Amino acid sequence: MKKTIIIANWKMNLSPDQAEQVLGEMLALSPSWPLSETSVVVCPSFEALSALAPQFKNSALALGAQNCFWEDEGAYTGEISPKFLKGLGCQYVIVGHSERRQNLGETDAQVSLKVKAALRNGLVPIICVGETFQERQDGQKDAAVSGQVNRALEGLKLLSGDELVLAYEPVWVIGSGQAVSPEEAGHTSQVIRQVLLDHFSLEQINSQTRIIYGGSVNPLNVKNFVAWPTIDGILVGGASLAAKTFSELVTAGSVN
Ligand code: PEP
Repeated sequence: MKKTIIIANWKMNLSPDQAEQVLGEMLALSPSWPLSETSVVVCPSFEALSALAPQFKNSALALGAQNCFWEDEGAYTGEISPKFLKGLGCQYVIVGHSERRQNLGETDAQVSLKVKAALRNGLVPIICVGETFQERQDGQKDAAVSGQVNRALEGLKLLSGDELVLAYEPVWVIGSGQAVSPEEAGHTSQVIRQVLLDHFSLEQINSQTRIIYGGSVNPLNVKNFVAWPTIDGILVGGASLAAKTFSELVTAGSVN
């Protein structure tokens, strides 16, 4: 059985000093987390990555970044090299978060290039997909999600050792305090799995991919999602910013 994965996305929150403080508190709490059943990933802001990276080296927690560029290095001012992220000790990278799609116009084609760049550099891409409120109102939810997954995976060959995380995050739910029902998240995880079947073998899907849910998950509702048979973990924003709340979430989310 796949280990549940719980991913903290700190977004553009917590200054490097604050991030150091919160990570220290998390590490102090982490011996009580059931990490044999659950993998925990923390994605701090870029400004904090270098300072925090050494603390992940001897810990059971994995380090992730929130974005990367699709080239490894070169004349790309302001961009984030996946190769340098790997060198820092990152194991994961979020790509295609809806906040980047909405605020910066990040496209599916760019997301697809980033997925390949992440894998080429030995990083696990966490590919975010999800419908807007309007798409949902128009009855286009499944089509919107499957279209995003399909385009993100275009031309991708999974090599042995590669891993992918697909994060279903309904855009209208993120940061709202109101998650979708586990049934709905479970249904969409099946829609995503159906698209994966168009790209990869069943064996690859079972051993190299995870489908997770994100959007207003907290310590009280987390169990409903991770207990759903087709949901392999969660992506958490707001509830990952305070060590105590996140610790409660990890503990509640690790009980199967
Ligand atoms: C996110 O933005 O990835 C997210 C899941 O945020 P929140 O948990 O705050 O809804």
